[in-house]
Order: sequence, then structure tokens, then C-alpha cells
Amino acid sequence: MYAGLKSGANALADFRSDTVTRPGPEMRAAMADAEVGDDVYGEDPTIQALEAQAARLAGKEAGLFVPSCTQANLLAMLTHCRRGEEIISGAPYHVIKYEAGGASVLGGCVLTALPVEADGGLSPDAIRETIKPDDAHMPISRLLSIENTTSGRAVPLARMDAAASVARDAGLSVHLDGARLFNAATALNVPAAEVAACADSVSICLSKGLGAPVGAVFCASQTQINDARRLRKMVGGGMRQAGIIAAAGLFALDHHIERLAEDHARASALSKALAEIDGIEVDYAENQTNMLFIRLKDPSRGGAFQAHLQEAGVVIGAPGGWIRLVTHLDINDSGIDRMIAATTDFFS
Ligand SMILES: *Cc1c(COP(=O)(O)O)cnc(C)c1O
Repeated sequence: MYAGLKSGANALADFRSDTVTRPGPEMRAAMADAEVGDDVYGEDPTIQALEAQAARLAGKEAGLFVPSCTQANLLAMLTHCRRGEEIISGAPYHVIKYEAGGASVLGGCVLTALPVEADGGLSPDAIRETIKPDDAHMPISRLLSIENTTSGRAVPLARMDAAASVARDAGLSVHLDGARLFNAATALNVPAAEVAACADSVSICLSKGLGAPVGAVFCASQTQINDARRLRKMVGGGMRQAGIIAAAGLFALDHHIERLAEDHARASALSKALAEIDGIEVDYAENQTNMLFIRLKDPSRGGAFQAHLQEAGVVIGAPGGWIRLVTHLDINDSGIDRMIAATTDFFS
């Protein structure tokens, strides 16, 4: 019945990413009812409400609504750093690996990648050794960019604080890529503002686990947000009656934060069930949130496994090496059961 699915659009359970969620009827109603104005003129009340609410939750002075979290991170790096200045981050972190080198291409910044520790954080010693002395040969170290959650792991606050204080002692600013800030806060059982407290600025993605169709909020001091507003215009992120989409983000902040714990519980339950199945290896740690990673003991069966799941209405990502499975708003208990049943069936 589900054979020949070309995408996840008709899938019963799409585990590829938490970006695949589609807005439900209540979120769509909030969008339809949104009061709007021209935001480039500063006249969209829904965007202003979203920015204020995100900033309040993140514990920062102000927020700026942007089309994507990639743009939020770009604005962060370009407001913290000038040309020839260095950004220190983690090799697998989004700003280094998945943003097309934006800070280098558009901002002339030097990106330096450090390996991450087992808990997903950066080593304070490695940061200390990487920060450059005042030497004409070297770029000027200006920003430490950390990430939480990272690869689905919630980085402990002590680790973040240790990294941030080494940076601060050397005069660097700190940015937190908190695309999944609320997943981190949920897993660490603290308010989001506490997770972001060690950073000067934080990016929050509305279209991951929060389930909005589009958008992100960059939160920082009012001065930095003023600078970011000009840069946002420069890169084409100034939007007009975008209260229509901001309404979805506002709805998500109001209704979809508390339920993230359900996604975490489902990921944990799925990891336990899959670990029982011979033929599969599961990578899921204590501090993991809404993601787990699986690997076939016989990698040559990957394509057949993916096709078998597809037949059962379950979509997973490319089957080479570790496969990421992500739980989200559009995966309920029966989606988890379906994945377990289809996997059990394939290996028996
Ligand atoms: C997805 C993601 C981003 C980028 O978000 P987009 O809205 O897709 O541009 C940035 N950082 C992290 C850690 C992410 O997971």
C-alpha cells in the first residue's frame, strides 16, 4: 500500500528529522487570525509579540525574527565578529559543518573547528590552547560558538559554563546555537534561560521540534539586535506581513514546549526496543533527547531495510553508516510501534 512513496509526505511515521512536521488545525487557525503589518516598517504586532516572548524565555533583552536558524547564526557571528576575526566552534557543530561557511564567505571570519568531547561539549583546555595571543601573524580570536542540543545530546550546564568562562576570561563573546534550546532545557530540567545564561546571544529554531512551518528567533542584547536588524535586511531576511508565519512560532512557544518530553520519552523507548533486535546497533546515551542513531551490523542490507520500512509507511534517512532517527510532533506511539514491528519483521 505504501510502496513507491517518493517522500515522507504520505508516511505514517517519518523519522528523518523533526523538521518534517506540518502545522495542525489549531496552529493554522492562529496563522489565519494573525494581526499583521509591515515588519520592515516595524509594524507587525504578531512578530513583535513573538520576538518578545522568545527573548523572555531565552533570558535575553531582545529578539529578532528571521527566516531560518542558519540566518540567526549568521547574524550572530557577523554581529559579534568583524573581518579577520576568529570564531572557535565544534567540528561537528552546525555553524562549522552545515551553513555553507556563511561567516567566512559573507563576513570574512576565520572558523576554527575543535573536536567535541563525549558529552557533546567543548574542552576548556582545547579552547584555551586555541585562543590566539596578540600576534600580528594571527587572526583575532573573538567568538566562541557552542551548541545545545548537539546531535540530540543535551550538553550539561557545567560543561557549557566551563567552556564559556575560558572564552570570557580571554575577552571573547559567546554565542549559543540553541536551535533545539527547549529540548536541552527539557532534558536538563531547567528553564531555557538557564541553558542560555552562559552565552551573550542565542539562536532558537521554531521549525524543528517546536513544529512551526518556518522561522527562527535570534536573541541577544538590544544593541546587538539593532545591528542584526541591519544585517538581516542586507541578506534579504527583512519580511513584510510575516506575522502570518510568526503566529505559528508564537503558537509553538505557547503549546509545544511542554510536550517535548513526550518526544524524548518516545526516543528512549524506541532505543530500548531496537537494542533488543539482533542485527542492529543502537547509539543512545543518557543525555539524549529526541534522537537516536542506529547502524546495521550488515551494512549491505541498508537499502533493503529502508525499502522494507517504506512498505510499512515508515521513512528513514539514507542507510549508509549511522542512521539518525528523530521523534517529533507527528510521531505518536503507534508510529513507534510501527517502526519496531517493521524492524523486528525485517531481521527475523
Ligand atoms: C537545524 C539547525 C540549524 C539551522 O536551522 P534552519 O532553520 O534549518 O536553518 C542550526 N543549528 C542547529 C544545531 C540545527 O540543528
